[in-house]
Amino acid sequence: MRAVTVNPGVTDSLRLTEDHPEPASEEGAILVESLAIGICGTDHEIIAGHYGDAPPGTDRLVLGHESLGRVLEDPTGTLQPGDLVAGIVRHPDPVPCPNCAVGEWDMCRNGLYTEHGIKALPGFARDRWRVQPRFAVGLDPALAEVGVLLEPTSVVAKAWDHIERIGHRAEWQPRTVLVTGAGPIGLLAALLATQRGLAVHVLDLASTGPKPELVAALGATYHCVPVNDLDFEPDVVVECTGAPVVVLDVMCKAAPTGIVCLAGVSSGGRTIDFDAGALNRALVLENNVVFGSVNANRRHWDLAAEALARADRSWLSSLISRRVPVAEYTAAYTPQPDDIKVVLDFAA
Ligand code: BGC
Repeated sequence: MRAVTVNPGVTDSLRLTEDHPEPASEEGAILVESLAIGICGTDHEIIAGHYGDAPPGTDRLVLGHESLGRVLEDPTGTLQPGDLVAGIVRHPDPVPCPNCAVGEWDMCRNGLYTEHGIKALPGFARDRWRVQPRFAVGLDPALAEVGVLLEPTSVVAKAWDHIERIGHRAEWQPRTVLVTGAGPIGLLAALLATQRGLAVHVLDLASTGPKPELVAALGATYHCVPVNDLDFEPDVVVECTGAPVVVLDVMCKAAPTGIVCLAGVSSGGRTIDFDAGALNRALVLENNVVFGSVNANRRHWDLAAEALARADRSWLSSLISRRVPVAEYTAAYTPQPDDIKVVLDFAA
């Protein structure tokens, strides 16, 4: 069968293999036919050789952690043949740490977790894959066109879950949200904010292309200015750019008792002249919280499936800027200026 693989740590090692072996039965009882795979910045980092690990004892990693498939067989009866399904990315560490022991693998404390298509587990960018029932998330059949967005939605569902848990440390009545970065994560974070009835502002560098319209269609306000030029103080910030200057600026911009969730990953290696003492003063004297958020556990995947089912389907669909047949995989993994979410189409 077909599989898209890389040799982690080696640049230009992306390949489409036509004779990849069928998924091993140990991978799980549920056999799934791949429909679509979403591509994100993490895939680009892996392809560039900066991130990712092959399964132990092998040198190639099957890519793909944003999955959508159709169940072919499930002898456990958890799902039915024909059901839409996505596979959860992260598996708990084997020790396990206190968080993995209770199913909170997104909060793994020893770093020994594994991730499909990223860290030591084969990804979903292959014609067929297998999954254990506890890592399989069933989707509403109406989500066939957009269900591939479930993984990035699970990441923002986790971010919002933690924002709310932190918010409830005291009386909390947030009104204004700022999302920095209008890529798929930023736009989905904005969607979940509108579903919570909040006033949503999205800031991005792009003044043209699809982003301003996608934000307006949510009923949110689009800004194409530096963070410091905004004329309001957000109660919540979801930072999705990972751009160092933006990260520092939003920490200073949040309202008193504000919460800043950092969901973008910086590449590091850049130094900025910054008054850390002034930041400390602002955070302490205003009871502000800055925290990082990555990945998602089963509860977040289920919340994400509900959020997608409630969202406007045509808006979700317009996040998918290109659907590229697997045979043209190199085009799929080559970024284009107006890309939001690019999807590798296994059904084409
Ligand atoms: C994935 C997460 C993963 C993270 C770090 C992201 O692209 O969406 O599931 O935990 O990369 O590997």
